[in-house]
Amino acid sequence: MTNNQRLTERDLAVLWHPCTQMKDHEQLPLIPIKSGQGVWLEDFDGNRYLDAISSWWVNLFGHANPIINQAVKRQLDTLEHVILGGFTHEAAVELAEKLVEITPPGLNKCFYADNGSSAVEIALKMSFHYWRNLGKTQKNRFITLENSYHGETLGALAVGNVALYKDTYGPLLMDVITVPGPDCYLREEGESWEAYSIRRFADMEQALARHADTVCAVIVEPLVQCAGNMRMYHPVYLRLLREACDRYAVHLIADEIAVGFGRTGTLFACEQAAISPDFLCLSKGLTGGYLPLSAVLTTDAVYQAFYDDYQNLTAFLHSHSYTGNALGCRAALATLGIFQSQDVLGSNRNLAAAMARAVDRFRDHPNVAEVRQTGMIVAIELVKHKAGREPFPWQERRGLRVYRHGLSQGVLLRPLGNVIYFMPPYVITEQEIERMVAVAWQGIQQAVQD
Ligand SMILES: *Cc1c(COP(=O)(O)O)cnc(C)c1O
Repeated sequence: MTNNQRLTERDLAVLWHPCTQMKDHEQLPLIPIKSGQGVWLEDFDGNRYLDAISSWWVNLFGHANPIINQAVKRQLDTLEHVILGGFTHEAAVELAEKLVEITPPGLNKCFYADNGSSAVEIALKMSFHYWRNLGKTQKNRFITLENSYHGETLGALAVGNVALYKDTYGPLLMDVITVPGPDCYLREEGESWEAYSIRRFADMEQALARHADTVCAVIVEPLVQCAGNMRMYHPVYLRLLREACDRYAVHLIADEIAVGFGRTGTLFACEQAAISPDFLCLSKGLTGGYLPLSAVLTTDAVYQAFYDDYQNLTAFLHSHSYTGNALGCRAALATLGIFQSQDVLGSNRNLAAAMARAVDRFRDHPNVAEVRQTGMIVAIELVKHKAGREPFPWQERRGLRVYRHGLSQGVLLRPLGNVIYFMPPYVITEQEIERMVAVAWQGIQQAVQD
């Protein structure tokens, strides 16, 4: 028995893995990872894997990054964690100051939590509670986009729209208003992303016109619906949405948990539309992929609506045990320090161009309906027939074949259904990009055969 097999056996005896049909592991080997370095992960048998998906979109500057390691180690010897109710600490304050400084204008207050779904819950509750504190108790619903994803807890799941994750739990979920989205995969042939995104806004305008009186907020993933198969749209949609939310007195919640911190080419995706949301949810890359931490940034106006004498019971009495964890805040500060000391967005432009060149040949592939890219996110939509974009039946699990092939060739790809995508850490080299894409190409060749 190899070292990998020994650990796998112990694992499967006691461990239940996230987002997994555990029976798959009767056939599909689990990969126990011993160490990570830069874009590379190494298992217990000495095999290496290029982490093309940033370990579920969290890693920005590589595994075992010396700068982040150093910062976390120093913090560890000083203070690991302290209650954030009634107490505070340096890392939490510094990080809040930094986030207020670098996020879009007007977001002046920072509320911490410890994962992305919780950040979404907080934004939803804060928005609802804001209107309640203003006496607008009839506002108690949310508008969301088709194909959106905002996490797995019940509130976050309710405002999401990926059937695979959501439908089973339908009876438990609050009722939301779901509007057709600007997903540009569905545009007419020859239509630009911009024209399509503008055209699709009509549905949102209509929903707001009809429901504004009872709606607290619209929640969106700016520019890329990541868990929804990396579907993308034009920034103009966000600009129109901001303007309409103002007009109808409805909050805008921007969930940048996946797209924040440079993934779309700008530090935050909202910058490309030159808008500020009322709530900005951040997590994933916030700590460079090191520790679970999230933050909700909001405006002075929202903060002020809760600020009153205790007896009036307007306070936001929400907390998580690990709110503002010191190690997480320190990892986040080190991560933001890298953005500050290096031209990350500039070098990412070169990497994004290298990815664009590397995937160009997929465009003519008979089983590829679309190659799309926004900044450091590239996705390839696999179909049965290019003409008419007829999809492969999901039961055939073609993407899983690409995953298996990737592992056999030392590349961690984790397709979303039949969408193969790349979202690598920013420390990837052009040679590694070519390798990653070449392995995906071979994987697709095998996956489309009968
Ligand atoms: C991952 C993700 C979440 C949920 O974050 P978790 O930390 O996994 O709970 C929410 N929104 C978006 C857009 C995400 O990609």
